[in-house]
Amino acid sequence: MRNHMWDVVVMGGGIAGLTAARHAQELGVERVLIVERGNDCGENNARISGGLIHPAWMDMKDEPDVIYQAIMDITEGTAVPELARAYADTCENAIDWLIDQGVSIDAKNSDVPYMRWATAPHHSGTGKRIDPTRGPDKMIQTLYSNFLSNGGVVEYNSSIIDAENTDGYWEVKVVNNEDSQVTTKKAQNLVLADGGFQANKWLVDHFVGPNASKSVLRSQSSQQGDSLLIALKNGAKVVGMDKIYGHVVSRNAETNDLLWPYPPLDKMSLVSAVVNSHGELIDEQFSNGIALCNALAKSADPMSYYAVFDDLVWEHEAKDNPYGSPVPNPDLVERGGEIFQASSIEDLSSQIGVENLKDLVEQHNALHDTQNIRKKITSAPYYAVPIAPGITFTMGGILTNAEGEVLNNKEEALPNLYAVGSCTGGLDGGPSNGYVGGLASSLVFGLRTARNIASKIKLATI
Ligand SMILES: Cc1cc2nc3c(=O)[nH]c(=O)nc-3n(C[C@H](O)[C@H](O)[C@H](O)COP(=O)(O)OP(=O)(O)OC[C@H]3O[C@@H](n4cnc5c(N)ncnc54)[C@H](O)[C@@H]3O)c2cc1C
Repeated sequence: MRNHMWDVVVMGGGIAGLTAARHAQELGVERVLIVERGNDCGENNARISGGLIHPAWMDMKDEPDVIYQAIMDITEGTAVPELARAYADTCENAIDWLIDQGVSIDAKNSDVPYMRWATAPHHSGTGKRIDPTRGPDKMIQTLYSNFLSNGGVVEYNSSIIDAENTDGYWEVKVVNNEDSQVTTKKAQNLVLADGGFQANKWLVDHFVGPNASKSVLRSQSSQQGDSLLIALKNGAKVVGMDKIYGHVVSRNAETNDLLWPYPPLDKMSLVSAVVNSHGELIDEQFSNGIALCNALAKSADPMSYYAVFDDLVWEHEAKDNPYGSPVPNPDLVERGGEIFQASSIEDLSSQIGVENLKDLVEQHNALHDTQNIRKKITSAPYYAVPIAPGITFTMGGILTNAEGEVLNNKEEALPNLYAVGSCTGGLDGGPSNGYVGGLASSLVFGLRTARNIASKIKLATI
C-alpha cells in the first residue's frame, strides 16, 4: 500500500499550496502531489495580483514586534494572537526564502513600507488576463518549475471534491475536469489551499450577506469553497466568515475586465455621497475602502450604488492612488467606465434617475460637519460614477494553529489535516475589516506548515 500513498497531497497550487509543497520537498518529503483545478501554473490569484508582499502594510523585514502590533492594531485586537505572533516572526524568513527560490523581488517604492518587497517587473494587470511578463506570474512560474524539476507531481485540471480520514490516512476524491472521471488518492497528510469561497455564490450569500454574491468578483473564479466544505464535514472550526477583502470598483467591471482590479474607486468613493437608485444615502462614514466595500456587499442591493462628488474631488482624490496603479481620473474614463457629468445637481439627478438626489447631497454636506472624511459637494461640474463592491477574497475561513494544523470546535488539531492561505481565517477582520496581507501570510503559513509536516514525517521514521 505504501507505494500508493502520497506523503502530502496539496489541494490547490496557488502561492500558499505551492509554498507548502515546495518547502516540504526541500525538507526531504518525497512524495508530494499538488492537485490543481486550473491549467498550466493554475488558476490562482497570485498570478493576477499586484505582487506587493507585506504584513499588515508593514515591511517584511520590520521587527517582529512591530509587525505583530500592526496586525493587532489593524484588526482592532481580533486577530488570533498565536497566529499573529507566528506570522510576524516568520516574515523575514519568508521573503528570504522566496528570493532564494529565484523569484525576482525589488521595491516598487522604497519610501513606502508595504511596497518594499514586490515581485518584479511591476506593471499592472487587467482582470483575469494572464501576463507571463508580470512579476506575480513569474513568481508562480518559478515556484512550479522548482517543484516539478525536483520530483514534485502536479495534477492539473483536477479538483479535490471530498476527503475522509480512514485508518490514519486521507482518502481524497479527485475529479478530472475534462472527462469528469473521479479517482481516489491516499495521503498521509492533506493540505487545504484552495483560496477561499469568493466565487461560490451560495456560500457568499450564506456567510457574507444575502445579496453579497451580486457583487463584482475581483478574483479568479476557481475559489469555490471546496476546502471549506471538506473541513466542515471533518469537524473543523471556521471563523470570521462574514467579511471580505476587496475594493470599490466601477459597476461596469462586471462586464469590462479593463476595469478591475484597477482603478480602485476607494479613495474617491470614501469622500463622496454614496447613494443608491432607491434614493438612499449611506450615512455611515468609513475609514477605508475595504470597510465601504463590505458595507455595499452586505446591503440589500449591492449593484445599485453611485459615488456622487464634485469637481474638486475629481481633480484630487480621483487622481490619487497609493498603490501606484491606475486611478479613476483619467483611467476609469479611458477604459470605458461610465461617468455622468452635469452642471447642476438637478441635471445629474435626472441623468442617473435618483429623484431625491438634491436632498441626499444636502444630507451628505450636513454630515460633513461631523464626518470629516466626507468632502462637501459644492463645486460644479458634478459627477456620478456607478460603483460596486469588488470581492477579492473572503477573509474568514478554516481555523488553524500556528503550524497550519486544522482545529476542531474544541480547538484541538485534526489529525494530519492542514490549511494555508486564503481558505483560512483568524487573522484578517475586526470591526473595520483589517487586512493583514494575502501573499505574505500565504508564504509564511505555507513554510510553517511544510516544516511541521516534514518534522512529523521525520519523527515517524526514526
Ligand atoms: C486582483 C488581485 C490583486 C491582489 N493583490 C495583492 C497584493 O498586491 N498583495 C497581496 O498580498 N495580496 C494580493 N492579492 C491577494 C493574494 O493574491 C491572495 O491572498 C493569495 O494569492 C492567496 O493565495 P492562495 O494560494 O491561498 O489562493 P489562490 O491564489 O486562490 O490559489 C488557490 C488555488 O487552488 C485551486 N483550487 C480551487 N479549488 C480547488 C479544488 N477543489 N481542487 C484543487 N485545486 C483547487 C485554484 O485553481 C487556485 O490555483 C490580490 C488578489 C487579487 C485577486
